[in-house]
Amino acid sequence: MQMEDIVVNSKVKKLIGSNMDIDFSNADFGNSKCPWNTADKTNGHMCAVKDISICKYFCGIQYLDSVLCSYPYENVSILKRDEMDRDIIDRIV
Ligand code: SF4
Repeated sequence: MQMEDIVVNSKVKKLIGSNMDIDFSNADFGNSKCPWNTADKTNGHMCAVKDISICKYFCGIQYLDSVLCSYPYENVSILKRDEMDRDIIDRIV
């Protein structure tokens, strides 16, 4: 199914369904740590895994490269409908 691009303004379009791979596994690259990994003493939780899943605490990206993370509150419990581009899909884990 082809998704419709959303026009944000005369210069920017929102392109839906990017194939993201995002994590905080490299502390030398990023400045933050995943709070779920810290709580579980692991490096296994990832914000988005390409082709596979999106973390249940992932609330999106803010430019430049900041993750909006709602841990320990699941994103569906705090995001409003108009903050999402579409209904939650089954890739949320
Ligand atoms: S969204 Fe938050 S809890 Fe989930 S993997 Fe990313 S930093 Fe960790």
